[in-house]
Amino acid sequence: MTETAYQKCINPDCGAQFDCGQSLFKCPECGELLDILYNWDKIEIQDKMSEFGRRWAGRDNRLDLSGVWRFRELLSFCEDWHKVSIGEGQTILQQNDAVARYVDMEAGRLHLQYEGLNPSGSFKDNGMTAAFSHAKMVGATASACASTGNTSASMALYAHSCGVKCTVFIGSGRIAFGKLSQAMDYGAQTIQILGDFDDCMKQVQDVCTQRGLYLLNSLNPFRLEGQKTIMYRIIEGLNWEVPDWIVVPGGNLGNSSAFGKAFFELKELGLIERIPRMAIINATGADTLTDLVNNKNLAWNNGKVDQAIIDDYYADLTARNFSPHTCASAIEISRPVNLKKCLRTIDICDGIVRAVTDEEIVDAKAIIGRHGLGCEPASAATIAGLKHLRQEGIIGGDERVACVLTGHLLKDPDKTVNYHKDNQGQFSNPPVEAPNDLDEILKLIK
Ligand SMILES: [Zn+2]
Repeated sequence: MTETAYQKCINPDCGAQFDCGQSLFKCPECGELLDILYNWDKIEIQDKMSEFGRRWAGRDNRLDLSGVWRFRELLSFCEDWHKVSIGEGQTILQQNDAVARYVDMEAGRLHLQYEGLNPSGSFKDNGMTAAFSHAKMVGATASACASTGNTSASMALYAHSCGVKCTVFIGSGRIAFGKLSQAMDYGAQTIQILGDFDDCMKQVQDVCTQRGLYLLNSLNPFRLEGQKTIMYRIIEGLNWEVPDWIVVPGGNLGNSSAFGKAFFELKELGLIERIPRMAIINATGADTLTDLVNNKNLAWNNGKVDQAIIDDYYADLTARNFSPHTCASAIEISRPVNLKKCLRTIDICDGIVRAVTDEEIVDAKAIIGRHGLGCEPASAATIAGLKHLRQEGIIGGDERVACVLTGHLLKDPDKTVNYHKDNQGQFSNPPVEAPNDLDEILKLIK
């Protein structure tokens, strides 16, 4: 047990507390989400954020090398010897004036946070380093998850790096083979169940219970602690200044949940003076959050969220046999696990929610690819959403904005190839066929 941190149910009518040495992932008393909370008076914390930046000089220390554990006092739930790291979080905040022009922003005001530069190619590594540290702390020797995406890739990489066995459950429906290829290559046992993703989720939970496996699902609150550091690094990239806006894709809502918590804690600790606003961007084919917040007026309400609104909404989805559909597979989710924590972020950050079409996403993705480091479709929802918010006049052209690009371009190569080869959008850049003839080829060179 550590004295610095504990788990607490987010339901104010329950508020049950648990030791961090337990693997619970939801409140055993009421079933709500759990938070990791800190006894800040028992942690020696830097006086200002810039002191974390000094650790760049000590990169022979494995924890200082990590872009997550460099900020370890702000996620102090385990001892240093439990901390698992493979050098995650070496990511770049890039000022990008060309993409700024696309969304009608002034030069110098738009920044792209490239989380695709993590070891497994997505932001998930920020969370996995924290969750596997917790797994080591509780003595886990085997882990499992149900995912066909970035989670399974990241989990498999961290599992083998710290000697924990790893099983990935996949369904027989749509499978993101680009991402699954990583899980197989990293040595995860992959079990394909004759069923859909929901069937996998149920089976994996039962298997974990019976075999005592550590479950790396989206409910794991320790993952969100690691994801807080993405915000610390954005502030670091802005010379420790807070931007006006953070723009993030909305899928299972773990990132937005973690980001709001990060800013709330930094303000509470006096390490920042103000909290930025946040824009969370859904795809129109998976826009539960947008619908609930903008049309049904669902709100955090000091933790007393109107559960009936959510229940009615999900019952309607079931009655309609609705299944979400978007090219941005990483955010193709209609029942987001971290919904209530995200509502809290919207409250903390004066947040807003928008949905963008697949067409807008793939065009924005092509613009990012042409002028930046490239990203997977879900990441590009941020730029498509920002373009909307500029047109609406909600975000000013002179405001400072940081968009979180969550996954690497090569995570989903099929979408990219099809967009360009089949001329699917206004920025398609297809290959040109040429005869095997020098003069003809020379005529084609631009
Ligand atoms: Zn509870």
